[in-house]
Amino acid sequence: MAIKPANNIQDLKYFGEFGGVNPSISDSSTFTFLSAKTMFDTFEGNADGCYLYARHTTPSSMYLGEALAAMEGTETANVSASGMGSITSVLMQLCKANDHVVSSRTIYGGTYAFLKNFAPRLNINTSFVDITCLKTVEAKITSKTKVLYCESISNPLLEVADIPGLARLAKKYNLSLVVDNTFSPLSICPKELGADIVIHSLTKFINGSSDTVGGVVCGTQDMIDNLKSVIDGAAMLFGATMDSLRASSILKNLRTLHIRIKQHSSNALYLAEKFEKDGVKTVYPGLQSHPSHKIFKNMMNAEYGFGGMMTIDAGSLEKANALMELMQKENLGYLAVSLGFYKTLFSAPGSSTSSEIPEEEQKEMGLTDGLIRFSIGLDNDIKRTYDKMKACMKIIGVIS
Ligand SMILES: *Cc1c(COP(=O)(O)O)cnc(C)c1O
Repeated sequence: MAIKPANNIQDLKYFGEFGGVNPSISDSSTFTFLSAKTMFDTFEGNADGCYLYARHTTPSSMYLGEALAAMEGTETANVSASGMGSITSVLMQLCKANDHVVSSRTIYGGTYAFLKNFAPRLNINTSFVDITCLKTVEAKITSKTKVLYCESISNPLLEVADIPGLARLAKKYNLSLVVDNTFSPLSICPKELGADIVIHSLTKFINGSSDTVGGVVCGTQDMIDNLKSVIDGAAMLFGATMDSLRASSILKNLRTLHIRIKQHSSNALYLAEKFEKDGVKTVYPGLQSHPSHKIFKNMMNAEYGFGGMMTIDAGSLEKANALMELMQKENLGYLAVSLGFYKTLFSAPGSSTSSEIPEEEQKEMGLTDGLIRFSIGLDNDIKRTYDKMKACMKIIGVIS
């Protein structure tokens, strides 16, 4: 079956209160009821379509959640104030004291810090593994394991998770497979490949304008109801709620995601192929040389490409820093963390976004000092960008 996530978004139909082509924003934190009985039923979760209080649901967060669920092919979704708000609430919902998590060792720095430093306070412990090796993953599963956690394309090393393979393990041992799909919206649909829960940081490609943080959990109605339960739901009780105005603005940006992703992907593929030919150590899932190129190809919705993220190795931290400063001076992009912006963004993960990971472990996982992570922008003239970047690399001595 061909999966058409962008079609699913397009097929949604909402009107505003006054016939506006965008849904109205409900700029209220609380909602009135015509009868006291309906208020009670809403509290109990038995009054569909009624809104109670904005930490639970608002019309705007519901519209955005529905659109993201349509994109990921899940029953429903719950948006939150940040990607970390989504990640931590899912992990806290699925795990209690003495439970165990098997996680990829190459994950977002914040997620890593949460599992490594915070969750053990609650006696929830994590084994970090090379997620590309299913044998290692299976070997770490114990009777206490509840969650298998990974990113479809990992940050920052761009390792690719074999989601169908991990889903088989999850099924065999009755675990929840949680996939953070932030790096590959539309290109990969983890649910279709067997994931139970799909998470995004909306901050990145999905919103795409670097003006807000946001997150989403896509899953079954049951899972999302649990997360939002007023009795013991982690999303409800931790309270990382997205504001209605933001939900509305992210929904509007979501509608152009397919166009943006195609451009991010084709620009990144162009640069990755050129840099590799120039002899620069380049990692991009679209390159034949990527160890998981075939796995990615088998999982992807081909029309959206291999995504906008690539890395190069400049050889040393000094060269990486000099190159990034020069590229910024030449206005080829910004020296900034985060991703999915119209401009190219670059950073050296070892000393920034992955600095939560101890140096020793960075080395072990192949995170070198000279690594530069690029989120390739929407440049219309990518050949010109390439020529200018190449000139910068020559000046810094990354290529001779
Ligand atoms: C940014 C990011 C997060 C965290 O999202 P926030 O919106 O910053 O909380 C989680 N996972 C990945 C892969 C990310 O890139």
